[in-house]
Order: sequence, then structure tokens, then C-alpha cells
Amino acid sequence: MTTIFDLDYTLLDTVRFKEALADLLGMDVVKFNKSYRENFEEKGINYTLEAHLDALGRDDKKDIIEKFNKMNIGKYFYEKAKEVLLNERINCDKLVLLTFGDEIWQEEKVKRLGEVVELFDEIVYENDKKENSHFLKNLPTDSDIKIINDKFKETKEMFDEIVKSRSGNASGIEVIIVKSKYSEDTQELRNEIKKRCWRYCENIAELSPENKEVEQERKFAIR
Ligand SMILES: [Mg+2]
Repeated sequence: MTTIFDLDYTLLDTVRFKEALADLLGMDVVKFNKSYRENFEEKGINYTLEAHLDALGRDDKKDIIEKFNKMNIGKYFYEKAKEVLLNERINCDKLVLLTFGDEIWQEEKVKRLGEVVELFDEIVYENDKKENSHFLKNLPTDSDIKIINDKFKETKEMFDEIVKSRSGNASGIEVIIVKSKYSEDTQELRNEIKKRCWRYCENIAELSPENKEVEQERKFAIR
């Protein structure tokens, strides 16, 4: 089985990471988010720290980048995320970290994840267009796939691409949606996930091995 993890808001508490980044820039989070929106989101430009420093006209760019280089972003992983990864690594043939968005910025982040990065067999950077994803199109068709992601829409697009590459065969593809700050949480969405026989988790810690033991014990007790 190939297990594919998303990074932002699935493994990485991107809210806390952004707070740390704002701190590094000496800005409060509200100002940082405003500046992020105005300079990148609204202009449809992908974020990089260097571009942000340029947009702000900062003359301490060198200093900030030096500090950023020393940052361990792995410490902003959600609680139990590392345990989940370790457990998944034992149970799959290939562990993949798949990120969408600006390749340079995602690479910058991944480079600073620390030791956790060694758990992955492959790290894939793709732009936002799932239909252009070389990785999704070329996944082995004779192996099961597990996708763990916080965004339903993104996951659905990934799922559709994989199914397409398997001539419409959706069997052997397991999906887990992890609720995050930015994933919508409506009854309609929950119904849609249920209808697709996908799993919905409140947080990544739910997938940790100790939770699995609790779950199994519970099932045993019911029997
Ligand atoms: Mg995400």
C-alpha cells in the first residue's frame, strides 16, 4: 500500500507555523495575515518568505532568512502526528508526503521539518492543478492507496485523478479526511464523506496507534 499524506493542516499545524513566521517578521498575526492576503492571496501569487520580505520593503531580509534557516518547522506538527506517521510507515510499502502550491515555498518548509522528513520514502511537490499531476497519474495500479488530507475538495480531485488512471476502478483506495481549521464542517459534507465510505476524523491524533487499541477494545467489548 502507498500512503499519501498532505502537509498543511493535516500534519502541520499551519496556524501555529504562521504565528511563528509572523513572530519572526516582528508582526502580530492579524497584520501578518492581512499582508499575506493583500500581497499574495488577492493577487493570486504563491507565498515565499523572500517575496514577502521584498513586498514589505524590509532591509533586514538577510537577518530574517538566516533565522528562518535555523527554524525547526517539525515542532509545529499536530500532537501525535509523528506517532501516526511512524505507525503508518510500518503498515505501508511507501510513505509519501504530497504538497500542493508553490513548489519553492513548500520545499523551503519541508527542508526545515527536521528529522521527521526521513520517515517519508518520497516527497512530491505539485502545483494546484490536480489534473496535471504526474504523480497521481502514475501511481502503481496494482497497489492499494491511502490518502490522508484535510481538504475534501482537494481530496476528491486527487481521488478522481487516481480513479481515472485506473480506468474508472475505485477499489483499493482508502480516504481519510482530517478536520482542520480550514476544512468546512457541515452535515452535508459529513453525509457526502459517509456516502463515499470515506473516514472523517476530528484530528490527526485519532489515527494514532494507541487510539486504534482503544477503538479495538471498544469493538471487542461490544461483541
Ligand atoms: Mg492541507
